[in-house]
Amino acid sequence: MASLKLITFSDAAGSRVGVLLDGGRVLDLAVAIPPARDMLALIEAPAGVLSAIRSLAANPPAAAVLPLASVTLEAPIPRPRRNVFCVGRNYMDHVAEGDRTRGITTSEVPKFPQFFTKAPDTVIAPDALVPSHTGITQWLDYEVELVAVIGTAGRDIPKDRALDHVFGWTIANDVTGRDLQRRHGQWFKGKSLDRSCPMGPVIIPAADLDASDLAIGLKLNGEQRQSSRTSKMIFDVKEIIHQLSAGFTLLPGDVIMTGTPEGVGYAMVPPQTMKTGDVMELTIEGIGTLTNTIGD
Ligand code: MN
Repeated sequence: MASLKLITFSDAAGSRVGVLLDGGRVLDLAVAIPPARDMLALIEAPAGVLSAIRSLAANPPAAAVLPLASVTLEAPIPRPRRNVFCVGRNYMDHVAEGDRTRGITTSEVPKFPQFFTKAPDTVIAPDALVPSHTGITQWLDYEVELVAVIGTAGRDIPKDRALDHVFGWTIANDVTGRDLQRRHGQWFKGKSLDRSCPMGPVIIPAADLDASDLAIGLKLNGEQRQSSRTSKMIFDVKEIIHQLSAGFTLLPGDVIMTGTPEGVGYAMVPPQTMKTGDVMELTIEGIGTLTNTIGD
């Protein structure tokens, strides 16, 4: 069975949810299943709605099919209801490369996940421009990350139940101003520049994809910069959800970025930054490719 590729898209008739079909086609769920008006409504819909969507995607009614070329993809959740939750330093080789830039040659494995957030307004669509923020940061950098989208609310979620709370998986780019990240101590400033969280292009339902060992990588202007596997996370998705939900209620539609592997620009020798025109292509096996360009 092919995995279901859920999207948010827009055209002259507005923004709505759909399914990316093969052959450059989109199933318009606003026509096919009116209650599925946006991704949050779909996430909160009864489980039966997802099975109904599967059946429709297998035999799409012609009246609900649009050419992909006639629509614009948005981020699957264009504006999360609250901050995007993030985990820093969650791949050992990335911890080590970051430590090396500070003269530390023997890195310790983090004992607890390092949580921080990005403002919900930072989320932008596939193919949208990321500002260069010239004059604000001299060290604009990329980070490919697997994203878990929460489906059902929960607090104090045990590890062995954590994946029951995941609606699906997508990709995000944790675009970062490295100098700001360091200068302000707390990471929020360097991580929440406007339009610094490209997300998408699709959400794959959790039932359709085991995300525990997927190839994850990023190319900058066609050059492979990051290449790893999600199995190399220090804290896996179950542990992240378990620890983040301790005394803190996770809600449907919450978005959790799970950290980036090694290969970021600032840890290269010499350190590399991004400039106007640079093209970032982020790929996770079984999900797809998220492409964004640095604008002015
Ligand atoms: Mn990150």
